[in-house]
Amino acid sequence: MVFMKTMFKVDLNKTMDQQEVPGHNRWHPDIPAAFSVNPGESFKMECLEWTDGQVKNNDDPSDIRHVNLDRVHVLSGPVHVNGAEPGDLLVVDILDIGIFDEQPWGFNGIFAKENGGSFLVDQFPEAAKSIWDFDGIFTTSRHVPNVRFAGLIHPGLMGVAPSQELLDEWNKRERELIATDPERVPPLANPPNPENVVLGGLKGADFDRVAREGARTVPPRENGGNCDIKDLSKGSRVYFPVFVDGAKLSVGDLHFSQGDGEITFCGGIEMSGWIELKVDVIKGGMEKYQIKKNPAYQPGPVNPNYNEYLVFQGVSVDHSGKQTYLDANIAFKNACLNAIEYLKTQGFTGEQAYMLLSTAPVQGHLAGVVDIPNTCATIGIPKAIFTKDILPK
Ligand code: ZN
Repeated sequence: MVFMKTMFKVDLNKTMDQQEVPGHNRWHPDIPAAFSVNPGESFKMECLEWTDGQVKNNDDPSDIRHVNLDRVHVLSGPVHVNGAEPGDLLVVDILDIGIFDEQPWGFNGIFAKENGGSFLVDQFPEAAKSIWDFDGIFTTSRHVPNVRFAGLIHPGLMGVAPSQELLDEWNKRERELIATDPERVPPLANPPNPENVVLGGLKGADFDRVAREGARTVPPRENGGNCDIKDLSKGSRVYFPVFVDGAKLSVGDLHFSQGDGEITFCGGIEMSGWIELKVDVIKGGMEKYQIKKNPAYQPGPVNPNYNEYLVFQGVSVDHSGKQTYLDANIAFKNACLNAIEYLKTQGFTGEQAYMLLSTAPVQGHLAGVVDIPNTCATIGIPKAIFTKDILPK
């Protein structure tokens, strides 16, 4: 066994800004690296859960209702990879991921419409919370009874730093979108916001500038970021385009488990934990392999063995009955709502069913995207996660 050095440590009783070496919660090329590694090196990083300790293990959802979203996501890193330059591909192997013995639980929440919202915000405007206890590879929740499943543990967020040019492009295009409906609740996107920033060891005038310019970590972008890909688990290999010297890789938002779509927004089973990574560099790989716009990845070989699913369909007709043209987002919403209505006939509340779809290893697919005017989206729920038979009789 190779000795795995912990290159980024966290104290679970402190917030990210108070750590000995703090991480960050914005994207910017000038956030200084927390440490450096050589290509071919393996190392371990510890991560705080994405809200920086705001959500507690109790039955009261007011922490979810009033969560300070200026604070998210607190990330570990950046890691400077020696020799990586713009135009290269950064190869990242996820060797292993785990929980902390002193914190064997995670949480899921439905964000309130006025504070973040979620995928089904029209049907579920109120905040809710579920706590999930870990039992080895399995999890159960006192707030969502009669289910137990194995986690497919993964980082919800992993990404490299943008160049200044790419960052400016993000801020421009997202501000243009926000300007189309600036008063919308929840907002169309989150512009840079200097409140509650954590920027590693940055100080003085540089801190103020980066706080003003730094992109929020909420959406996935060209650098990877908050992709929330549940299959990016142990044994996966990711190819990131490199935009700055050293690549500046960061990671966080660990999930014990998540359903495709992470539909409640908060999100999978959110947890603090550790991740072991190995990095390498393919010189000139962006041009050579045309992996230039977004990362590509190879899923790992470890997957819970769920083979039998009950699958719900949805099509592109919105909740007022209006026909849309191939709107995949609406189709997937309808698939989720159909699944929730069914689970309500099996003893779950709507909120419990919604949080279950966001946390359990459910499969979301786009079945057909060409049969005008309806896209068909599906959501498949593994039968074996329920402690009783839930099929129609
Ligand atoms: Zn998350």
